[in-house]
Amino acid sequence: MKKADLLVKNAIIITMDPARHVIHSGYLSVVADTIESVGQGDPPHISASKEIDAKGGMVLPGLINCHTHASMTLFRGLADDLPLMDWLEHYIFPVESRMDAHFVKVGALLACAEMIMSGTTTFCDMYLFEDQVAEAASEAGMRALVGEVLYDFDSPNYGPVEKGLEYTEQLIQQWNNHPLISVAVEPHSLFTCGPELLKKAGELSKKHAVPLIVHLAETEAEVDEVKSKYGKGPVEHLESLGLLDSNLIASHCVHLTGQDMEKLASAGVRVAHNPESNMKLASGVAPVPEMIKAGIAVGLGTDGCASNNNLDMLAEMDSAAKLHKLHHMDPTAMDALSVLEMATIKAAEVLGMEELIGSIEPGKKADFIVIDTNRPHLVPLYNPYSHLVYAASGHDVVHAVIDGHMVMEGGELRTLDLSQLIASAQEQAKRVRAWVGAAKRK
Ligand SMILES: [Zn+2]
Repeated sequence: MKKADLLVKNAIIITMDPARHVIHSGYLSVVADTIESVGQGDPPHISASKEIDAKGGMVLPGLINCHTHASMTLFRGLADDLPLMDWLEHYIFPVESRMDAHFVKVGALLACAEMIMSGTTTFCDMYLFEDQVAEAASEAGMRALVGEVLYDFDSPNYGPVEKGLEYTEQLIQQWNNHPLISVAVEPHSLFTCGPELLKKAGELSKKHAVPLIVHLAETEAEVDEVKSKYGKGPVEHLESLGLLDSNLIASHCVHLTGQDMEKLASAGVRVAHNPESNMKLASGVAPVPEMIKAGIAVGLGTDGCASNNNLDMLAEMDSAAKLHKLHHMDPTAMDALSVLEMATIKAAEVLGMEELIGSIEPGKKADFIVIDTNRPHLVPLYNPYSHLVYAASGHDVVHAVIDGHMVMEGGELRTLDLSQLIASAQEQAKRVRAWVGAAKRK
């Protein structure tokens, strides 16, 4: 009799392994933080200290959110449907200039609760006071790639930008050996970071062999600004700075030329696609089918809650599929499996974690979720990929396991006190209302 720490049985297992096997009436076992076995039928000779009956539901790799600003959960619904500059100048900037470490921590914990409860087990974050986001993810038991946002103006966290590079280096050293948290160097964008800062950020990321993450070609205005300042487009600008390589993760990439895509593909740059944010801010449609065809690894992200307004990756998958179908006026432009890949195995590749997570295979980390399919909107079930992308939502996730730990069981969070967290978020919202009011009176 083999011993396991956790055994899941009676499940449809969406493995996302290289052959994309789907195992009906399947089981999987976990020893410590690792998937030990995956198979069909009754689990043979395994005695586990904990068993989960999936009741015929779907088990899939935990979803991976390739781009977010977790603490912006506290700005959810604060101001919508406004022109970009009005939204930034009257709401986002006044609030971000006043917030502190505690605010960021509460927002990040709220985000972790929301992400776990809607099936996300790993996220990639960019924000201020990022040590608080790392702390929050660690407390929630989530896997995260985090980085302090860097730009040429002073930050309410670290002050002048030179301190930002030092702060980032400290973060890297502090979290280096953590089982769940890793750190990236994250200059905000090409319009908030001059060539000097971008180069220094690139050097720091190479020194510590960590990813470099930047918002890239998100809006037409950005492309125009970069062109008028530097005489070339955003992708060529990064190329001229020597930053276009496989170390780079670029978020958005909405406004690319065919030549840009060739450059990104041959350099091995990875891309985070955020369809709902791009739609809500009317930024445009990223050429995702074209990027995939060019051989670029593309993963899915939600972006922050101010421009989404939730962190539900199942909903994001639905939007991604439909956006590209409509844009191309072709229902075959983006199929359900391709979209699920962008939230699992391809997303893992984007974050450089494909050896660890993104699929359900023996030897990989035990990061997976269980979806209850005994619900009216998920019956009957002919095609699991179709249900995951077009019918399910984050509310259908009942169990979540990260690094072998059950972080949610039967819809109940195991790592965070949800009612206390909601009360803290309401307290922080009072501060936000006061900050916005003060900015308007000015
Ligand atoms: Zn963003």
